Amino acid sequence: MQTSRRGIMLVIASPSGAGKTSITRTILNQDANTSLSVSVTTRKRRTDEMNHVHYHFIDVAEFQRMRDAGELLESAEVHDNFYGTPRGEVEDQLAAGRDIIFDIDYQGTLQLYERCRDDMVTIFILPPSIAELRSRLLHRAQDSDEVIDRRLRNARKEMAHWHEYDTVLINADLQESCDRVAEILKDARQARTNPGGLAAFVAQLRARRDSTFDFASFVKGLQDEIDSI
Ligand code: 5GP
Repeated sequence: MQTSRRGIMLVIASPSGAGKTSITRTILNQDANTSLSVSVTTRKRRTDEMNHVHYHFIDVAEFQRMRDAGELLESAEVHDNFYGTPRGEVEDQLAAGRDIIFDIDYQGTLQLYERCRDDMVTIFILPPSIAELRSRLLHRAQDSDEVIDRRLRNARKEMAHWHEYDTVLINADLQESCDRVAEILKDARQARTNPGGLAAFVAQLRARRDSTFDFASFVKGLQDEIDSI
């Protein structure tokens, strides 16, 4: 039996330092049907970031050009820098049934809700405490004190948007959070999958006349197919 479905837009949002990047990387590594939407940003590249892998690093003029030309699916100003999702690849990947993870803020999420709500599953990650958030930002040691303070102020603002997401996760344990995200993705896939044999099964149920039809093994095959998604 064949299954076909459109890809899922899995939005994972959180204040900086809540663990979103680690969770996203784990899901991408363990699940071959997922890929990351690589955003454009005008922010400076950090030492451990690669152009076109973590972000497409561009200048403000290029960002404005892309936004004005309608090349961005959503865009926002975050921490005094511009960020946006290039429209190009997203539609092709969704049509091919690939699931795309978006690491975007609440402003971007709200814009996507208006355009593609049916394709979206959204998760908001909270840190277990502000002390833990500060400590994670300090350990990252990539930003100046001033930048860290600004990110903490912004974290408070960002956290006010928790209720706009389908699921809220408190990231006290990285492995548990990753498992939960993987489960959410699996459920979303099942909910969107129309197994190829389902139409035939429904037709048989409605016809109620084929006494030789082996419903038990048919249902078992269908369930196996759904379980394997
Ligand atoms: P960072 O500079 O730490 O990589 O990201 C800062 C914030 O910008 C994060 O909350 C991240 O989710 C958000 N962000 C990254 N890319 C995009 C994007 O394309 N659109 C929007 N709206 N936010 C983004």
